[in-house]
Amino acid sequence: MFKCAWCMKKIPEDQPLSAINVRFVEGVDYKDVEGEIIQVYLKSRNTSVPMIVTTEDSEAKKHGQDGLFAVCDHKCGDKMKAALAKEVDTFKNFLDAEL
Ligand SMILES: [Zn+2]
Repeated sequence: MFKCAWCMKKIPEDQPLSAINVRFVEGVDYKDVEGEIIQVYLKSRNTSVPMIVTTEDSEAKKHGQDGLFAVCDHKCGDKMKAALAKEVDTFKNFLDAEL
């Protein structure tokens, strides 16, 4: 079960999943944890949030996406994007995922 990367609420299996796709800046590499859910530290929030690392052969990766933050709704998604915009050392772009 996924947890919302913003409010940390559990997202029920029967609820449509919203997510934010992210691309890492050059030099940021999570290859050794492909396909896993890792904790990423967000300076602006002073906390770590769960991120799904896309695998090398996934559709997301083919579209240039390196990671995925699951969120429970669009409100959390918007807040998440605003926070990610401040993390310029880690993420170079982020957009709503098509799931
Ligand atoms: Zn949420």
